[in-house]
Amino acid sequence: MMANPLTPEDVRQNLRELRERIAGAARSAGRDPGEVRLMAVTKTVPPELVNVAWEEGVRLFGENRAQELLEKAEAYAFGPEHIHFIGTLQTNKVRQIIDRVSCVQSVNSIHLAQELQKRALAAGRTMDILLEVNIGGEDSKTGMEQGAVTGMLEKLSNFSALRVKGLMCIPPFGRPPQETEGYFSRMHKIFVDIKDQKMDNISMEILSMGMTGDYQLAVRCGANLVRVGTGIFGKRI
Ligand SMILES: *Cc1c(COP(=O)(O)O)cnc(C)c1O
Repeated sequence: MMANPLTPEDVRQNLRELRERIAGAARSAGRDPGEVRLMAVTKTVPPELVNVAWEEGVRLFGENRAQELLEKAEAYAFGPEHIHFIGTLQTNKVRQIIDRVSCVQSVNSIHLAQELQKRALAAGRTMDILLEVNIGGEDSKTGMEQGAVTGMLEKLSNFSALRVKGLMCIPPFGRPPQETEGYFSRMHKIFVDIKDQKMDNISMEILSMGMTGDYQLAVRCGANLVRVGTGIFGKRI
């Protein structure tokens, strides 16, 4: 891993500005800023710099790769209860991460859910999960198709070791704000519709959307968890 060009003071300053902007976006939408949780996304960031965010009060961290998580976790100032898995997760990696995260946000197939169920049972625990929705309908994206979400949730309500806590999405990259807003608004609608259905074993508490380029828009559209990497730790190298 290469040295990160940002200093701890840069990270502190970025966090101050980021929190102000998140709070501003929440207020402009008539929402309580306290509703919006900030996740620091740590891919390629050295643990010492990740720990600066912890010292500054960040309490949720997002990891993309199983191997990187294993390598860095020991140097973290915090434990698995503060870590969510957010990257594409291959079933053969589930065993490695099952005791190292408190939520998998990137569940996108029944196959992956079955493996999580199996490994969670073996570890004697339950695992929180979010369904990842391919809200832009892109071939290149890994989330579930929008139309498959309800059917998937019905199946998941029978998985005794999994707790569905909400939805996450990564909308198509680099689109005009109006288009991105359309994706976020549709996610929020799906989230609210499912919540209203009150399905067994399914709680819609977390709507995870918004990254460095679009978190303010996401908050205005109803996100209550934003995942920010570059905006805290600088450009990934
Ligand atoms: C990398 C990543 C982020 C953060 O992206 P930035 O643009 O650096 O804020 C958020 N979510 C997921 C799933 C990611 O892989």
